[in-house]
Amino acid sequence: MRKPFVAGNWKMNTDSHTSINLAKAVAAGSSEVAGRVHIAVIPPFVYIPAVVKAVSTARIAVGAQDIYYEHNGAFTGEISSSMLKDIGCTYALCGHSERRHVIGETDELVNKKVTASIGGGLLPILCVGELLAERKANQTSQVVNRQIKNGLAGLSVEKISAVTIAYEPVWAIGTGLTATPQQAQDVQALIRKLLGEMYGTQLAEDVRILYGGSAKPSNAADLMCQQDVDGLLVGGASLNADDFVAIIQAAI
Ligand code: PEP
Repeated sequence: MRKPFVAGNWKMNTDSHTSINLAKAVAAGSSEVAGRVHIAVIPPFVYIPAVVKAVSTARIAVGAQDIYYEHNGAFTGEISSSMLKDIGCTYALCGHSERRHVIGETDELVNKKVTASIGGGLLPILCVGELLAERKANQTSQVVNRQIKNGLAGLSVEKISAVTIAYEPVWAIGTGLTATPQQAQDVQALIRKLLGEMYGTQLAEDVRILYGGSAKPSNAADLMCQQDVDGLLVGGASLNADDFVAIIQAAI
């Protein structure tokens, strides 16, 4: 049985006070269900140490929104997985759509980040998803297959078990447009099938596949009751503790 997983990506939001308050409110609100659902908050880099401290007595993991693929050296401005592990991170987003489409990250760069996350002791959350034009052109499965194959290239079966996949259709992120539960299920079943072809059925059954894209309290339960939707990666709604806690509660 895959345990549900709900992660909140705070993006470039919060400040030193609101990040701590939000983390503490999520910890307090989710304490009764925290044993039955994996929970992660993913703040901006600079607030990670304070958030780690704020949730230290709760069963809430902390993640990073990005990493650089080298572990140390002359890479001004970059932050490595081993540094993030050192300050208490557990997860790292790799290939979030805003990094692919705003910053210009390629599949090859995302693959280096997934590989380096595991090498540095973090659990990568590999984000994949099609643009609206790609969906309209019936290219969703082609795009997602390419992103998965390239994103996981060169990783052994043992390493793949550290990976969580997040299917996040780009047209649904931050737009208020959510994929229907059936649309999410259809793509996520395809992803699990592909993982089965690549790594075997058992591993494919164990890998968690999250949905992300305008998830909120009103649609969370319907999305997560789909067979291949093992949880949610939540952006906007994770900035409101009541909404995020309601989404966490909808996972069980
Ligand atoms: C995200 O940032 O991964 C995301 C899914 O954002 P939103 O929930 O705001 O669409």
